[in-house]
Amino acid sequence: MLKAKKRFGQNFLKDTSVLHKIIQSMPVNSNKLIEIGPGLGDLTQRLLEVKPVLAYEVDKNLITFLKDKFSKEINEERFSIVEGDVLEKFQNGSLSDELYDLVANLPYYIATTIILEALKDPLCKSLIVMIQKEVAIKFAASCKTKEFTSLAVLAQTIGKVSILFDVKPESFEPQPKVTSSVLMIKKEKEFIKGKFSGVFETNKELDMFEKYLRNSFKAPRKTWLKNISQWVDKEYIHQLLDKYNLPLTIRPHELSVDSHHLLFNKLRIKETWKRRKRGKCLKTTKDKKITMEIKK
Ligand code: SAM
Repeated sequence: MLKAKKRFGQNFLKDTSVLHKIIQSMPVNSNKLIEIGPGLGDLTQRLLEVKPVLAYEVDKNLITFLKDKFSKEINEERFSIVEGDVLEKFQNGSLSDELYDLVANLPYYIATTIILEALKDPLCKSLIVMIQKEVAIKFAASCKTKEFTSLAVLAQTIGKVSILFDVKPESFEPQPKVTSSVLMIKKEKEFIKGKFSGVFETNKELDMFEKYLRNSFKAPRKTWLKNISQWVDKEYIHQLLDKYNLPLTIRPHELSVDSHHLLFNKLRIKETWKRRKRGKCLKTTKDKKITMEIKK
């Protein structure tokens, strides 16, 4: 009998009606399926009825168990399992060499990091993931609500985000202390060889946007002006807000996803202009702040 390990965030989903609803939610023309943390394989079993599955699992004991349970599917090359920490795999690039959909009941202690990695992986086309309800709300939050943070802006920049349904603790063994939700993110922007034709042209620009968001939401209760002027010339920010009829007192969660794109692009253009005009050596302390952040 395999005992659930707390350190790996193991809460096994036992409710067959929830498993059924997850399968029903999957894209009709799904790509290759990747599951992170197959655990005891209950969800895997259902996924295999739809498509071949590639799974990533960190727990050696579970891997031995799964190899035995799915020996037939492994022989038929419909199931393969990679041993190790999935975050290390993401650091070496994509989890796959072809387009894929991610379906998983994620280990909650690293769920946000996994979602962010999958969002930035051009080969991942959609995510259907079970996570803690509070975290799901953060990704799906609407502008002007207190849950609307950089996570929502980033996720909603890359895809269409929705919470499909909630799952009670009783559906798991052992039961978690929190309610869970199934979150769906369907990518809308096309990635082309590491580039995608959306708001940004390259993944490097996406990294810059993430830095912009980190600075914008540094102190969420303070004004966007106060947060961002640690990073960019205050006078220019005043001009920008004035030009787009945005109040100086606006807070980062009151700016829509589109407004964040607009402001980011203006700041980026301003930076290009400065470099072209003065060369790479920027003179004032404030200017140095901008270049240093962007080059990091
Ligand atoms: N999919 C199963 C289910 O629905 O019952 C198990 C889900 S359980 C919440 C999370 C799974 O992720 C466990 O199997 C755990 O061992 C695995 N896991 C935890 N950390 C991991 C990591 N860093 N890389 C890969 N798998 C991990």
